[in-house]
Amino acid sequence: LLTPAELKALVRTIPDFPAEGIQFRDITTLIRHPRGMADSVRHLAAMAKSCGAQKIAGMEARGFIFGAAVAVELGIGFVPVRKPGKLPVETIGIDYALEYGTDRLEVDPSAIGDGENIVIVDDLIATGGTALAAAQLLRTAGAKVAHALFVIDLPDLGGADKLRGADVEVETLMEFE
Ligand code: 5GP
Repeated sequence: LLTPAELKALVRTIPDFPAEGIQFRDITTLIRHPRGMADSVRHLAAMAKSCGAQKIAGMEARGFIFGAAVAVELGIGFVPVRKPGKLPVETIGIDYALEYGTDRLEVDPSAIGDGENIVIVDDLIATGGTALAAAQLLRTAGAKVAHALFVIDLPDLGGADKLRGADVEVETLMEFE
């Protein structure tokens, strides 16, 4: 397997996207590399397996890329955590604060068994607001959520600490300042 340091070298940094002063960590260069995609997924799948994952939940949209692949690798199901209005059934949702304004995530409650161990997968954790909202939503639907896995951590933004404060353990493949 490519090491996390080798995988990190495949992530592209785009300055001033989507706004001035932001260094966007672009995973499209990682996933278009055949071993970059496969080995990122294998590392995450090994982590999810040791967490005892019964299902994987991924957040729209980049969480679908890694989360669905991890679920396939482990032979378990995948639950999409979606932006508002996308699911064709009655959903449960959670509103959460962004730097400017609010956003919302929705899930189909029938996707989640009572007490099922669901591991969250996303491409990147920054402030942790998205992942914390997803964890709370999945818990409301009856899941046990004790682990969240990310390709990239931006530790300066404190997201992992925020999740740990909500009893969600965080593991990541790499960090950027
Ligand atoms: P948070 O809610 O932790 O502040 O932000 C994390 C969410 O925003 C993730 O769903 C992630 O996809 C997205 N995100 C924020 N910054 C970046 C970035 O620099 N690169 C990528 N790929 N995603 C980002």
